[in-house]
Amino acid sequence: MKTSLIGYPRIGAFRELKFAVEKYFAGALSEDGLYCAALELKASHWRFQNENGIDFIPSNDFSLYDNLLDTAVLLGAVPKRYRDLKLCALGEYFAMARGYQGENGDVKALAMKKWFNTNYHYIVPEIGDDTRISLIGTKPFDEFLQAKKLGITTKPVIIGPFTFLKLAGFTGEKTAEDFTRDFIRAYREILDKLGGLGASWVQLDEPSLVTDLSEKDVQLFTEIYSGILPEKGAVKVLLQTYFGDIRDCYREITAMDFDGIGLDFIEGAQTEGLIERCGFPENKTLFAGVINGKNIWRNNYANTVKLIEKLKTSCKNIVLGSSCSLLHVPYTLSGENKLTDEQKRCFAFAEEKIGEFEQLKKLLSDGAFLSGSEYRNNGKLFGQKRNIENKEVSYAVSSLSENDFIRLPDFTERKKIQKAILKLPLLPTTTIGSFPQTSDVKSNRHDYKNGKISFEEYVSFNKRKIAECIALQEKTGLDVLVHGEFERGDMVEYFGENLDGFLFTEKAWVQSYGTRCVKPPIIWGDVSRIKVITADYSVYAQSLTQKPVKGMLTGPVTILNWSFAREDIPLKDCAFQIALALRAEVLELESNGIKIIQIDEPALREKLPLRKSDWHGGYLDWVIPAFRLVHSGVKPETQIHTHMCYSEFSDIIKDIDNMDADVITFEASRSDLSIIGTLRDYNFKTTVGPGVYDIHSPRVPGVCEIKGVLLHILEKIPAEKLWVNPDCGLKTRGNEETIPSLENLVAAAKSIREELSI
Ligand code: GLN
Ligand code: ZN
Repeated sequence: MKTSLIGYPRIGAFRELKFAVEKYFAGALSEDGLYCAALELKASHWRFQNENGIDFIPSNDFSLYDNLLDTAVLLGAVPKRYRDLKLCALGEYFAMARGYQGENGDVKALAMKKWFNTNYHYIVPEIGDDTRISLIGTKPFDEFLQAKKLGITTKPVIIGPFTFLKLAGFTGEKTAEDFTRDFIRAYREILDKLGGLGASWVQLDEPSLVTDLSEKDVQLFTEIYSGILPEKGAVKVLLQTYFGDIRDCYREITAMDFDGIGLDFIEGAQTEGLIERCGFPENKTLFAGVINGKNIWRNNYANTVKLIEKLKTSCKNIVLGSSCSLLHVPYTLSGENKLTDEQKRCFAFAEEKIGEFEQLKKLLSDGAFLSGSEYRNNGKLFGQKRNIENKEVSYAVSSLSENDFIRLPDFTERKKIQKAILKLPLLPTTTIGSFPQTSDVKSNRHDYKNGKISFEEYVSFNKRKIAECIALQEKTGLDVLVHGEFERGDMVEYFGENLDGFLFTEKAWVQSYGTRCVKPPIIWGDVSRIKVITADYSVYAQSLTQKPVKGMLTGPVTILNWSFAREDIPLKDCAFQIALALRAEVLELESNGIKIIQIDEPALREKLPLRKSDWHGGYLDWVIPAFRLVHSGVKPETQIHTHMCYSEFSDIIKDIDNMDADVITFEASRSDLSIIGTLRDYNFKTTVGPGVYDIHSPRVPGVCEIKGVLLHILEKIPAEKLWVNPDCGLKTRGNEETIPSLENLVAAAKSIREELSI
């Protein structure tokens, strides 16, 4: 039995790619230097997979920023405004990724969205009426040759045309259907070239197939591939799906001329059933996604072997695969010195997953191995109890009643009370929480963690920073202030470290977008609050100003979704455990005089099931209650805010309103403002703060620009229901961008306030 990886992480076990790209941005690394650093990483990944027995090793899964952006460039989908900048190829590439402001012009970045139900973000390609799709790039060919030079024949991976078209933004009159011919031509050419270079398999990723498909979608898919497949020549084409099952098109797809089909057995609830019911064609290879590419728990060999044995009755050719790219897990456990051996035994990061492939391969090829120690040891992991229970917590969760989820009095009543107490101006200005994480802030945390400075020194530095931050916000004229989050490296890790039940890693970074990574904690056992988490810093910040300072918490759903979750209890129970812990912190803040508390839920939408039919009666039925559980105990005068990155919640707008927060801030600047119309049409109850500028880009927005955005919003949302804020936290930006941006934001709000009062 052979093994195949869909994709490998690329940021580097020590985040080498991040540092190289950032150095290039800062002008401290040349273009050649960057390409060299990239090649070194790719080579080490290929070698590792090769040495450890992976048969189908991916190439072109690497990217300097994002794969979909790479595909757009490969196919010539570069909007004119970027071409007009007349930058070098790499400059143009990064201008699309992050915007450009300099000698050659001033252009915003392309939109960025979450990649299906993950925390990875892709750059949204733009297709206009003047876009000419044709193969102009060379990246897949270059990478194939780079690997070949090392003696490794890879399986090039390219995002398929259907998924590309489904995810692209169409800015003109033309639709996907108008481009099918061009896509067919380009992909034929790609296959032809790769075949010519010596590739025997090419993997086309089509994760959009696991989403709700209309008849028209299925038609589009079949039309495109009926155009491509007859010309594939000697190259074998693997249609790779992941993040779910392909229930809407299983029959159509298995009837087409693919040589291999990759299906997800981890998230694809119906994958097994589909094969059982409809069979699997003899002349095709099933790439069975049985090793979880998203979570870090060890594979249960007994279950996997059982599944594969069962599949063998309907599928003649099976390749062992991962459920999705390993992009979503960290590199290796070998750098983790703080986890105990007992804990480590339970986990597999990317490198260890490759070890699992090797062991499973042996197990499946040689039954005798079933009595071997690897198999027995693996079995023990799932038979034993881990010492992780907290009776008090499980009792509290099981005793929850309906009233625990309801905040009283209702929204309208609270609004009046809060207005009288907070006395905020019209269009109150605020930020989302974090302020620039300058190098001194990072070293402070780092030095404390490494024992170089004492707790007192660590805290007093943070307090100095808080004082500076409050002074800066007062000077800028913001109305509702924040403490700046200098004590937090990562908004989830921070809470993980301060709650019982979490494990945290040292180097387990996972790419979130471009050069940004997160280090998700691991939920190891029952979660409980064992100490005051945020109140000290918030209370200190509030003591420095007359203006309200927001208490700042990460919400239960985000903590859960951005952690590696347990697989031994339902997610719902885990969410309620976290919610109860945060509820105690909310009440602590309130009783210490904090009047506004923000509970961030940027990741709430992220794990919304990819199919609508799974939304209610499932996910939404416990995530909204989990959020409500956190704040339902506060007094009417305490104002509860929430924040969500990305405004793609038109389709769950009722549920968002049902979170019953008083104010919600969210990203709106990097996507179109269509959400604003939806808010009005739906008669959205919660007061809103749509982000008026993009913090993911180093551009500084001008006063007029921000005023323009606000006036546009005010056409649809009454001023009494509107807050003014950036679209997310400022931690990734420098002070040189942040200060002028906030000054402009305040100036824009003030100017509109004046205009409104005339
Ligand atoms: N309060 C957090 C911050 O400002 C929110 C971050 C987020 O939404 N991802 O950084
Ligand atoms: Zn955000």
